[in-house]
Amino acid sequence: MPQGRPIVIAHRGACGYLPEHSLAAKVLAHGFGADYLEQDVILTQDDVPIVFHDLELESLTDVARHYPDRARSDGHWYAIDFTLAELRALSLNERVDPHTGARTWPRRFAGQGLRFPIVTLEEELELVRALNAARGTAAGVYTEVKSPAWHRAQGKDPSRIVLDTLARHGFTGRGANVFLQCFDDEELKRIRGELGCDLKLIQLVGENAWQEAATDYDRLRSADGLRAVASYADGVGPSIAMLVGFPGGGAAAVPSGLCAAAHALGLAVHPYTLRVDSLPPGAASLGEVHRALFEVVRADGVFTDFPDLTLAYLNARDGAGHGP
Ligand code: CA
Repeated sequence: MPQGRPIVIAHRGACGYLPEHSLAAKVLAHGFGADYLEQDVILTQDDVPIVFHDLELESLTDVARHYPDRARSDGHWYAIDFTLAELRALSLNERVDPHTGARTWPRRFAGQGLRFPIVTLEEELELVRALNAARGTAAGVYTEVKSPAWHRAQGKDPSRIVLDTLARHGFTGRGANVFLQCFDDEELKRIRGELGCDLKLIQLVGENAWQEAATDYDRLRSADGLRAVASYADGVGPSIAMLVGFPGGGAAAVPSGLCAAAHALGLAVHPYTLRVDSLPPGAASLGEVHRALFEVVRADGVFTDFPDLTLAYLNARDGAGHGP
């Protein structure tokens, strides 16, 4: 990619067009020319890392139909209670509210009678390697360790397994074409320290109210917090709303100062998530959001459900012949 051009991270694949984390969504993102394909990783009962966003299966698969008696007493079907062989029976679907069946993204993929198997991390890394070889491209991977504290409370260590899997596929060292991301700051410090990881690390920044991890994100975004992040990570992944506000009515986007503060510490900034069907409050178009992120706050990349639209913006901005 051109030096300094922001990176386009296909969020859960090109999930604006196909069920998230299906192999098909990853192939489409690769075909679009995304710089990185994202993996959310959780563990099965038999310790296989799979590419799946939720700890529970029911919003994203047909688990209730295949295994009606396997929910826990809290009403959720947890992937960690199933072996990979059992999970192979399931098909991924567009995200739904499992209680009502309502689709989260009504305008997205609505194919009927198609099967999209759950994908292991091994399989996805092999897909990226083989597609890169076949196409003469160098797409990277952008892997998230999901809920490490929750996994460890269940007797599992996803970070160690993810790092071992990445290493087996050649992803080792500073130059490897991979970012490792996590919401949990204590776990990222452990990954850098105890687990001796020298990959590029991204500290995801959530809202405390989400209870994504025990991390205090208000502190993390402070000057002291960002300085601490810079001691173990290479960048931050905040929400778009944390970086820039849209007053609406055609008024200029308002930077929060977070991007500049992170840049001053040498941290890359990769915000989440661009969605043409769910623009930030006050934003009138995807183009307005692209301009705010890349021309106003100057983010170094973005997680996008629509990598083709983000690439089209950047290619048009940079002029024909300067694209990836
Ligand atoms: Ca993620």
